[in-house]
Amino acid sequence: MANPVWRSLAGQQAVIEQLTDHQTITAPTHAWLFTGPPGSGRSLAARAFAQTLQCEQPDPADRGCGTCQACATIGAGTHADVNIVTTEKVSYAIEDVRDLVANAHDRPSTARWRIIIIEDADRMTERATNVLLKAIEEPPERTIWMLSAPSPADVLVTIRSRTRHVQLVIPSVEDVTRLLAERDGIDPQLAEVCARASQSHVGVARWLARSPEARERRDMIVHLPLTIRTASAAVEAAENLHKLVQDEAEASSADRNAAERAGLLRSLGLTEDEPIPPKLRVHIRRMEDNQTARNRRAIHDALDRAMIDLSGIYRDLLLLHVSPQTWLINEHLRPKLTDYASSVTAEHCLSALEAISLARKRLAGNVPPLLALEAMLLAFIPRTRRHAPL
Ligand SMILES: [Zn+2]
Repeated sequence: MANPVWRSLAGQQAVIEQLTDHQTITAPTHAWLFTGPPGSGRSLAARAFAQTLQCEQPDPADRGCGTCQACATIGAGTHADVNIVTTEKVSYAIEDVRDLVANAHDRPSTARWRIIIIEDADRMTERATNVLLKAIEEPPERTIWMLSAPSPADVLVTIRSRTRHVQLVIPSVEDVTRLLAERDGIDPQLAEVCARASQSHVGVARWLARSPEARERRDMIVHLPLTIRTASAAVEAAENLHKLVQDEAEASSADRNAAERAGLLRSLGLTEDEPIPPKLRVHIRRMEDNQTARNRRAIHDALDRAMIDLSGIYRDLLLLHVSPQTWLINEHLRPKLTDYASSVTAEHCLSALEAISLARKRLAGNVPPLLALEAMLLAFIPRTRRHAPL
């Protein structure tokens, strides 16, 4: 059985073996690239590896104990020699990376290593990456870099060739179900529905399992394809979907934004309803800019999740055509989906999937969301056989 810090990582036995090998723990390479699909546990793996490297247990085989000072502070994100860098923005700014590189030259203050974990390294612009590259090429003696990205293709080849690769896999539905049930105490039946619905994305599965509102929103989204029959219904559904996504993004950031504002006002010695003196306005403006960027990312993420959920429905409908015995992503909706599948062709499902993938491209390319959603939902209208082209 793996040491405690690794136990939240579902279905990644090969990765755990690779990173807990005696040679790796005692003489680690100075730059690592963790890749795996979103939700597979890239960040978790990097953090557990940092805990294993810094752990205070004398025997390397016991490191990653989860209870010593080093393990605990890394877990809480407060260890002085482990920087965990993430961005709320769509991309990292070059200044952020310059600061990191400057930081990388400091010797560790108490621990064996200075470790810098960069999450979502794929959000780094090429200019920012080049700044980082220099630091990775000429590493300070006791500094270890850990980058994470969805796939090796998401980072520049120059980074790829200078890092050791750790490849996480998509965990099985059973692995995710077991983790949610054992670690989070979620009812196994609900855990399984959520593990399947999230397509084994551990974070999304847990969020669905814990939030009835999130399940309800997902439910409304996945029922859209089953109800759209006319162009006017598609246009109306686009508005509803857009609204749902915005509500979801708002729900995830509203509390945090309000707390942040209250905290900042307090630190500036102001109360909530007091006018802000002109010389302090710059602080407020900076916070608001950050919040705007974060809200934009929250909407982007929520839209992306909706697209993944919709693709899941059409994938299920296709499966019902070609291989009805296979488990569905939306197994809990099987009777409804079977019913609907009999009224549409496999070709229709394929063209709906194409429309979803086109909408994702458009959204990434800054087409107004409502327009992209409308075009996509219009493609969901099943053609009756009478109107079908030959
Ligand atoms: Zn420890």
